[in-house]
Amino acid sequence: MQNNNITNFLQLPDLDVINLIQTEGLYIFIAQAKDKSVKCPDCSSTTDKLHDQRWQSIKDIPIRDNMVVIRLNKKRYRCNCCGKRGINEHYDSIDSYSRKTKRYDTYLTNETISKNYTTVAKENNLSYTSIDNAVKKQVNPMIEEKTSKLKNAKSISLDEFSVLKKKKYTLVICDPISHELIDILPQRNKENIIE
Ligand SMILES: [Zn+2]
Repeated sequence: MQNNNITNFLQLPDLDVINLIQTEGLYIFIAQAKDKSVKCPDCSSTTDKLHDQRWQSIKDIPIRDNMVVIRLNKKRYRCNCCGKRGINEHYDSIDSYSRKTKRYDTYLTNETISKNYTTVAKENNLSYTSIDNAVKKQVNPMIEEKTSKLKNAKSISLDEFSVLKKKKYTLVICDPISHELIDILPQRNKENIIE
């Protein structure tokens, strides 16, 4: 049975929180998916027949300087229609195979704007690689999008403007045909433009 107060406290609408355990500097949310059925990937019928379940720890954004771990009861289902077994649940807040919530990856990426990876890793009790992966996961789709816009543009226009009249110039790259903004570079030097 879920507890509405602690479910609201976690603020992940796709999860129901069953219990909250508080220890020194740590919040442990015991949770499960709100959805109690899945769609079969083979025949598209909906099933709620349980195949198996296991517990997994998912790290989340700290709350008031407390580390947060979600002990998630992950269920797999069996299709009533075609008999397919081991159909995984889908979570809006957690990527498949990830041990962190999506919003924690975003949080960690934002932390690296003002701190180096080693500091962010230490503060969050995570490995350097874990921080690097979180940043790549956020940034790579943006780079791919910019690269494809740049490849598809038949021509580009470059405009520069000074930021706050401090004689620091920012370069804006646009597609003059689609009028789409492709990129904004912090500096107008040659190395930046070539990159
Ligand atoms: Zn099926």
